[in-house]
Amino acid sequence: MIPIIAIDGPVSSGKGTVARRVASALGWHLLDSGALYRVLGLHAQHQGVALDNKLELVDLAESLPVRFVERGGDTRVVLEETDVSEEIRQESVGELASQVAVLQPVRDALFARQRAFAQAPGLVADGRDMGTVVFRDAPLKIYLTASAEERARRRYNQLKEKGFDATLSALVEDIRTRDERDMKRSVAPLKPAEDALELDSTDLTVDQVVARILDEAAA
Ligand code: C5P
Repeated sequence: MIPIIAIDGPVSSGKGTVARRVASALGWHLLDSGALYRVLGLHAQHQGVALDNKLELVDLAESLPVRFVERGGDTRVVLEETDVSEEIRQESVGELASQVAVLQPVRDALFARQRAFAQAPGLVADGRDMGTVVFRDAPLKIYLTASAEERARRRYNQLKEKGFDATLSALVEDIRTRDERDMKRSVAPLKPAEDALELDSTDLTVDQVVARILDEAAA
């Protein structure tokens, strides 16, 4: 059986960074499932497909022309022939992603594509429902959290680094709203798997979180 580490958690919990570092330390594959939802949202917009048109969205999801290309230690996201790695990180694309993500038939259509990432020597899968739905059989499941204030602070620093303007109080508010929406949505609500290890990273560095997960993986 292919070893899998499922890492789930709320927005800005650091799971993307942690998942990438763990995958790289182990030499395993990485699935950034949020990127799939983001690419689908963007592709739907390019194709002029309405975000509530389930049938057409399922068609797009099933034939999504996306490739994840390893380049110089980085994974580039290529939609058709265009590198959309930066574009999909925009807030507006995150919004498109969260709209298509609430449609169960769309999630079903992306299920097999996500499962296909489980290849030797192993997979680290990052998302919202990796441990509860897509890789329910993963031997190690991590639910990564941090306080809303700490997550807002991290996001604030990231935005400042990129030269964007932001206020901490607005970011805390935004994170609380998103948590509420992600946890209360009727389709694939965000919650820890019953057998997940819950890791609160509020007072931990990325290195400490990565080390803890690697310890668990080796146990
Ligand atoms: O993790 P990321 O912010 O890139 O995900 C974008 C959006 O895609 C999330 O806000 C969420 O609505 C959705 N998503 C999801 N299930 C996943 C990954 C992402 O519903 N496994």
